[in-house]
Amino acid sequence: MSRSVLVTGGNRGIGLAIARAFADAGDNVAITYRSGEPPEGFLAVKCDITDTEQVEQAYKEVEEAHGPVEVLIANAGINKDQLLMRMSEEDFTSVVETNLTGTFRVVKRANRGMLRAKKGRVVLISSVVGLLGSAGQANYAASKAAMVGFARSLARELGSRNLTFNVVAPGFVDTDMTRELSEEQQAKILAQVPLGRLARSEEIAATVRFLASDDASYITGAVIPVDGGLGMGH
Ligand code: NDP
Repeated sequence: MSRSVLVTGGNRGIGLAIARAFADAGDNVAITYRSGEPPEGFLAVKCDITDTEQVEQAYKEVEEAHGPVEVLIANAGINKDQLLMRMSEEDFTSVVETNLTGTFRVVKRANRGMLRAKKGRVVLISSVVGLLGSAGQANYAASKAAMVGFARSLARELGSRNLTFNVVAPGFVDTDMTRELSEEQQAKILAQVPLGRLARSEEIAATVRFLASDDASYITGAVIPVDGGLGMGH
């Protein structure tokens, strides 16, 4: 049966691969985008997740077209890397505001319909650096680590209502975000990855789709690494 799936930041990168994976499996997929032309093949709703009203409007559009969201993938995120000494308060708060508070906004809004339906799947896209730490990414790593506490709290709060909350922690994935890194930075990272390569977005999408499938019905509050072994032991 087709489900109503919403992927934030589904217009490019990992989010787009996730959206494609659900669409290929026959689900009704909506994506959010902020600017430019969204990709074809999905219901695209304009939404900046730092704005509660835009989140509300996006959900209304999705609900009208596909019904209440049954599967939410909170994928939208940013980084503003900087050493602590040079990190401005804005560098810190804007990353937390998008990655953590933005996730809170979209999850809270989805919860309404999921409670009514007495079922729901939520997958949050965190990062290996949330648990591993990363020099120059204190803001980003803090926001991604916080997603784990958020998801696990909701897993406890809403498990009895048949809602699951899981976290996927990708390693380094070949997207715009990592293309910004210098060759030297990329080589340094790859030297630490047992599989010796970056991930493809589709490899993250496959795990996300599994967590939203019937096969994962007894998994909640889990943090699943898809990181080529980079974060082993954390
Ligand atoms: P990209 O930079 O390629 O894409 C980021 C996506 O998030 C875009 O769709 C962007 O929309 C959206 N976005 C950012 N800010 C907002 C906002 N305020 N409101 C709505 N949408 C927003 O990133 P990736 O695909 O690489 O990353 C996707 C997720 O995976 C992120 O959460 C990232 O932290 C995480 N991740 C990525 C890794 C990597 O190596 N690439 C590793 C680990 C985790 P727009 O196009 O409008 O800017």
